[in-house]
Amino acid sequence: MTDVAALAPLDAAVADRLSAGLSDGVFSTPAEGYLVEPRGRYRSAAPILARPRSVAEVATLVRACAAERIGIVPYAGGTGLVGGQVQTAGAPALLLSVERLSAIRDVDPVDNVMVAEAGVILATAQAAAEAVDRLFPLSLAAEGSARIGGNLATNAGGVQVLRYGNARDLCLGVEAVLPDGSILNGLSRLRKDNTGYDLRHLLIGSEGTLGIITAASLKLFPRPKERLTAVLAVATPAAALEVLNRVRDRIGETLTAFELIAERSFQFLTEQMPEVAQPFATPPPWAVLLEAGSGAGAGLEARLMPALEAALEDGLVADAVIAQNAAQAAAFWAVRETIPEANRRIGAVSNHDISLPVARLPAFIEEGEAAMAAFDPSLRVNCFGHLGDGNLHYNVFAAAGRQRRDHEHQRSAIKRILHDLVDTMGGSVSAEHGIGRLKRDDLARYGDPGKLAAMRAIKAALDPHGIMNPGAVFAD
Ligand SMILES: Cc1cc2nc3c(=O)[nH]c(=O)nc-3n(C[C@H](O)[C@H](O)[C@H](O)COP(=O)(O)OP(=O)(O)OC[C@H]3O[C@@H](n4cnc5c(N)ncnc54)[C@H](O)[C@@H]3O)c2cc1C
Repeated sequence: MTDVAALAPLDAAVADRLSAGLSDGVFSTPAEGYLVEPRGRYRSAAPILARPRSVAEVATLVRACAAERIGIVPYAGGTGLVGGQVQTAGAPALLLSVERLSAIRDVDPVDNVMVAEAGVILATAQAAAEAVDRLFPLSLAAEGSARIGGNLATNAGGVQVLRYGNARDLCLGVEAVLPDGSILNGLSRLRKDNTGYDLRHLLIGSEGTLGIITAASLKLFPRPKERLTAVLAVATPAAALEVLNRVRDRIGETLTAFELIAERSFQFLTEQMPEVAQPFATPPPWAVLLEAGSGAGAGLEARLMPALEAALEDGLVADAVIAQNAAQAAAFWAVRETIPEANRRIGAVSNHDISLPVARLPAFIEEGEAAMAAFDPSLRVNCFGHLGDGNLHYNVFAAAGRQRRDHEHQRSAIKRILHDLVDTMGGSVSAEHGIGRLKRDDLARYGDPGKLAAMRAIKAALDPHGIMNPGAVFAD
């Protein structure tokens, strides 16, 4: 590995040299919004923000940074939850935002491909697909701010992974500037292309450590013409899992989302965001938000009803509400999508984005709760997430009336207890948010040594001076 300490600090004189060959106004002093991250845990000291206007300008900048040994922290929408976009230590690096690379170069409903630049906001990409009666299925609560470059760099997941996969599965090719300033022209539209190493998959999920994604060709899908959205009250996560299996048996691949919501999620919403309408008068111990979509005339509700009725009869489901119109479906989703904001307002002592083999989720929830109670019974767990993907957002909060700072000293112990449990049960300590700066030590602790060695070799080969996102992903 390269020695990050060997990077030179960025100052005004260096920035002056870096600006050679760039259009006016690429450099500025970053406004406050660029320096903080959504959970307020990290603060960047980036002295200078670069907002290049073209791929050629990105390449010019990267080449100059490589020559001057200046680090670069790529930045897209700034919604990342693991501090990947926020440099906290080391020689001050250049914060390089892709926001001005915001063109949708093509939307092709025949190839079912969209070519979007890295600065396109996710919701804008979704709307561009919709305009040609297609679906770009990546969907997450931060979609109004997160950008395609950041989505790919973090291999984002979201609420439709069950059917459509992660960002990785939705990408046919990338264009990127590599750490020596060369341009990788990989905007393939091909579904089949076995011509050597597939470099798109190196860059996707690399969190800015191997290069800067400047554009991507993205897969489009038919827009579901019929949708079914329902909220079910269930007694336990095990019951929710049984319902998932039964629902899948009935409606198969049309199932797009199967989200688990804890009673505490509803309580936190009532407390922090009472304006959000909730589906049940009294929050159930657990709930499931499910969605299915298909072509016209599939009769989803009629196909699903026998499974739901049987689940009600068998006591797996206590109550079920099926959305009767788009507004009601949106209201159900609003509940799910505002849970992270309610959590943010309270301020978790510790957040965990974890995944497990789906069958082990109920056991993990039970054992995790018991482990937290044994550690400090005053802590409150709010656990929700993408049950169908085995992905939980397992967040630990202070008791009502106490602050997260009262428990700050317990944070690393909480993390260790939960991540050890995840690891023992064959899970992952980062399901969809990435490693960033938050989970570097976890990657070093739980990562497979063979994988880590290969990652270091790839990093050293592509980025020998260690300029790309110094301090992210790797513990040293
Ligand atoms: C309310 C809320 C809900 C969320 N829900 C989800 C969810 O359901 N699923 C999920 O997966 N995530 C979720 N996230 C996390 C976040 O939205 C995603 O990780 C998103 O993909 C980040 O995109 P961004 O544009 O904001 O990237 P940024 O935060 O700007 O950057 C993220 C990382 O990617 C790197 N990077 C950015 N742009 C590039 C580029 N062009 N080339 C190379 N590297 C780059 C950065 O250096 C950083 O390491 C949520 C976040 C919030 C605040």
